[in-house]
Amino acid sequence: MDCIFCKIVHKEIPLENIAYEDDDVVVFKDHKPSAPVHYLSVPKEHIQSIMHLEENHKAIISKIIFAAKKVAKDLELKGYKLVFNVGREGGQVIDHLHLHLLGGWTKQEEIDHLPN
Ligand code: AMP
Ligand code: ZN
Repeated sequence: MDCIFCKIVHKEIPLENIAYEDDDVVVFKDHKPSAPVHYLSVPKEHIQSIMHLEENHKAIISKIIFAAKKVAKDLELKGYKLVFNVGREGGQVIDHLHLHLLGGWTKQEEIDHLPN
């Protein structure tokens, strides 16, 4: 399967900006940031999208949220947005599930504007 995020999480493509990694999850910097701080929390298992979740994926969804929370804490973010784009009509471009961690804004009008 030709999936760019599978290649990234399995290190077939070199990646410098890894903020967190364990056996199940990688959190890395988005290469076209939509916010001053923009990371993607990605399961190593290929799951297409939230629409494709099954009962046995409950643990991995929890893990990508906790990984994003840890990175946000390490970066000392005082607030942030966690976003899933779901399906083409939901703005999803990469068909490997990922949680956007967005933050680092300083002005209210930037905070109110949800990227993507
Ligand atoms: P989505 O629209 O939710 O599918 O978001 C996909 C995100 O992945 C976008 O914000 C892209 O900028 C980001 N992205 C795509 N390819 C890469 C890559 N090779 N490295 C880092 N981020 C990427
Ligand atoms: Zn994949």
